[in-house]
This record gives sequence, structure tokens and C-alpha cells, in this order.
Amino acid sequence: MYIGIDVGGTNLKAGLVDESGRILADARTPLDFRGAEAFAADLAQLARDVLRKGGVSEDQISYIGIGLPGAVAHGSVLYTCNIPLKNVPLAELFRREIDLPVLLENDANCAAVGEWLCGAGRGSRNFVTVTLGTGVGGGFILNGKLYAGGGTVGEVGHMVVEKGGALCSCGRRGCWEAYTSATGLIRMTRETMARHPESLLHAVSAENGGRVEGRTAFQAARAGDKAALELCRTYVSYLAAGMTNLVNILQPEILAIGGGISGAPEELLLSPLRAQVEEECYPRHIGKLPRIVRAELGNDAGIIGAALLRRAI
Ligand SMILES: [Zn+2]
Repeated sequence: MYIGIDVGGTNLKAGLVDESGRILADARTPLDFRGAEAFAADLAQLARDVLRKGGVSEDQISYIGIGLPGAVAHGSVLYTCNIPLKNVPLAELFRREIDLPVLLENDANCAAVGEWLCGAGRGSRNFVTVTLGTGVGGGFILNGKLYAGGGTVGEVGHMVVEKGGALCSCGRRGCWEAYTSATGLIRMTRETMARHPESLLHAVSAENGGRVEGRTAFQAARAGDKAALELCRTYVSYLAAGMTNLVNILQPEILAIGGGISGAPEELLLSPLRAQVEEECYPRHIGKLPRIVRAELGNDAGIIGAALLRRAI
């Protein structure tokens, strides 16, 4: 058995996971950062909680996998954007609390491993995940192994799809993430609303307490609103541009899309996306089109992938 820990933006979640990727027990605690050593102690406490809940002792655990949002290499956290950890030997700090082997990996890479072994990527050797959330993350399984390494592999959100375009959180302009993350879609939705006072987008937002969310555009488009339909087409065209780049470079058998936006209606998101990628991607010349599917494991992908990490490295 294994323990997988997923360090999120606001919560730490842990799962006791068996050989087949089933979560037998889980535990969570709010992220309350009080320095690197206290953080390691909180992670260890969470691991103890999940052991207790599962009725399992430390010596039944092969190792603990931890997924973090940021750059991770050789047991150290090099950088994370939401927790002030820089060049912290987290695996070593953790082992002062619990003496079990510890594997650290980027959280998007863990999610890719989880989906590959137990979700949408099962049975493939070349598999890519793209997670459309607040940002855009990615993970690559190439030739049956996680492609990790230096620390920032898989930052697919920061490829440029619009040179000189919208400013991205990374400091560059025109990044894929600036257009296809929930944040990017919300920005484009607000711009569309400003241009189209007649659009149903206003009513959908008003019904939602005045909030504009990632799903606002899809809700209005589903009701047949013209401006919203056009906005969804624009969104999908940006999504397809980056997806096609990934397909051309990596030629995955399966490309899985996860994150909140992946739940949008099939006819507004996945169907037009597939059509566009199939029309433009280079592997079409040799008849090798990727299967573009929804990720299957939702929020559990990170925990399962962290727990089964050793099978992918
Ligand atoms: Zn960027």
C-alpha cells in the first residue's frame, strides 16, 4: 500500500491507496503555511491521520508520494507559486517525522500518472494530460514513463498562442494559459459582455449573483445566445491551437482534458475541439489521430498518481 498526498492551493489531501489505485481512506487539512519545517510536520500528521483512518501501520506502506504545485526535483521543492518554498529539501524534512521513502513530484505530473494508470490514459504508452483550471497544467507520459526531470517540464500553459497578446501571470504575453484557463475565459467573457449589452451573458451572470465564471459562456451559448456562441468558438480555437502544438510535438495516442472547464457540454467543447485538432494536426498525414477525451478521475487523480508514482519513473 501507498500514501499519496496532494498539496493544493488551499488544502492538503492524502489518500491510502492500494496496488490497483483504489483510495481506501482519505484525510484533508487546510493549508496553513508557517515555515518549511512546520509544513513538513503538517504533511506527516496528515499521513498519520490517513494511516489511522485506514487501520494500517507504517510498516505496511511502501513509500509516500507527494504532489506539489511548482518545480520539484531530487526530493527538493525548487519553487512554488502559491507557497513560499524555495530550494527546500522537503523529502528530508518529512523523513525526520516519518521514516519512509518519500517521492516528490509536480502535482500536474502526478495527475497525469493517475490518469495514465487508472483513468483516461489506461493502456497507452504516449499520453498527455491538460488541466484547464485557474491556470493550465500538463503532464506527459512518453514511452511508458513520466517525462519529468529538471523541475518545470510540462508547463504547457506558457506556450505562446497569440504573439504580443494578453499578459500572462508568468510575465510573458500571449500564453495559452492567458486564453484557455478559467481565468482567461472569464476575462474574455467580460470583454464580450462589454461589447454586447444585448447578450444573454448578462442575464446568466445576474442569475449567478453577478458573478462571471468559467461556465457562464457555455451556459449562455447553450441557450442559443449569439455572442456567447461566438465566444465559445473563439475559446475552442485557442484551445485547439495549443492542443495541436502538443499533438505535433509529442504525438500522443490519448490526450485527456481535465479541470473545471472540461465539464462543459460536449457539443460546445470536445466535439469542435476534436474536429479542429483533427483537421490541423500533423500526424493526420500518417493517419494517426490522437483520441481527445475527458479526464476520468477528477480531483482524485493527484492523490492516486502521487501514490503510484514509482510505477511511472
Ligand atoms: Zn505564461
